[in-house]
Amino acid sequence: MFKNIRHRLLLSYLLILALILGIFSLGIRLIFAYSLRQQMIEKLTALGQGAAANAEWENNQLKIDDDFKLRELLNNHQSLQWFDVKGNSILKQGEFILSLPLSQDNLVQIQAGNPNIQSITLPIIDSDIDKLIGYVRVSQSLEELEEILNKLDWGLVISIIVALSISGIGGILLTNQAMKPIEESFTRLKQFTADASHELRNPLMVIDSNVAVSLKYPEGMREADKESFEAIASATMQMIDLTEDLLILARSDQINLLKKEPVNLVIILEKLVKWYQTKIESKNLNLKLQLSETLLIYGDSLKLERLFSNLIDNAIYYTPESGIIEIEGKPKKCSIEIQIKDTGIGISPENLERIFERFWRADTSRSYWNGGSGLGLAIVQAIVKHHGGTITVTSQLGIGSCFTIYLPIN
Ligand code: ADP
Repeated sequence: MFKNIRHRLLLSYLLILALILGIFSLGIRLIFAYSLRQQMIEKLTALGQGAAANAEWENNQLKIDDDFKLRELLNNHQSLQWFDVKGNSILKQGEFILSLPLSQDNLVQIQAGNPNIQSITLPIIDSDIDKLIGYVRVSQSLEELEEILNKLDWGLVISIIVALSISGIGGILLTNQAMKPIEESFTRLKQFTADASHELRNPLMVIDSNVAVSLKYPEGMREADKESFEAIASATMQMIDLTEDLLILARSDQINLLKKEPVNLVIILEKLVKWYQTKIESKNLNLKLQLSETLLIYGDSLKLERLFSNLIDNAIYYTPESGIIEIEGKPKKCSIEIQIKDTGIGISPENLERIFERFWRADTSRSYWNGGSGLGLAIVQAIVKHHGGTITVTSQLGIGSCFTIYLPIN
């Protein structure tokens, strides 16, 4: 149980941390990419302004002083392109030239391709005549920028993984430390319940045997006294059962207490059906028993007997007169499947999740005095778990319930 809580705690802690780191990295990525782009735009604008200054208006046409260092342009993966006012290309320099037409509205243009290219378009104004004489478009391949961003992405992913691993180790240590006192107090509480039930057994046995002796010779006893003694005997029996149940549950986590011997479930189930015969007949129930020849598993026969007697007892109690109870047992691949079906009152879907809780009862009318402590199914579940099995239940109100148990063969 604690292992489960520990895993869930650790998992939610890591999930939250991963979420925080993810958002943080995404923020860094966005800011970094934005500032790199801005830097690039500034660089291209400066280059464009230089290129614009090299153009002048001569004889009614754009004349470009072509003194740009081509090598520098190539090294920087940049290119220059001049246009006249109508957008006709006049001169190109460099490798990464945009093939998109000139756009006078979009100052910044990006052309997808391999590599992606980003460009800035600047108007060329002749200061002498104060007139627009053309445009210059400066472009640069985005390869370098994308490479930097790629490296950043990898860096962030690796840092997140490293951070999560370190936090995971820290988290394991922390959850272990945090759970230790809870686990200890839980164990102490269990030990106390086990000790208390154990200690209560002896005085209860003494009361029980003394009452039994008194009732052995009822002659000369007043009728009222006899009834009182009988009531004491029955209450003592129930208290002995209850302490027995509490002891089983308190010790239910100590797996090594479980005996392992070959057990044929057919023998147990047939024996139980015989035991309950009188109860079954008194309610005029129709009991159908369908079992394979042998249903052999390794386990604790007394505990297994307890498991099935609790389920059969419930089926009988919660099934109205003339109802049907079916007990089926058959081997599956690696396990034995036992189903106990009844046409009883059923369990509502909201109660279905709670029936295995200790002391929980949907039907509060069943009390200690008629055999129900609310611990029956909790004990069933504990015994099934100890045998490495599973138990599931399906039920419909007013129609009936079906408990299915799988017990591993080994
Ligand atoms: P109890 O001793 O009260 O029977 P259990 O732990 O055996 O306690 O069962 C818990 C509750 O589950 C019961 O109070 C009852 O409401 C419900 N329940 C168990 N078995 C059946 C069944 N076969 N049909 C209907 N309800 C059931």
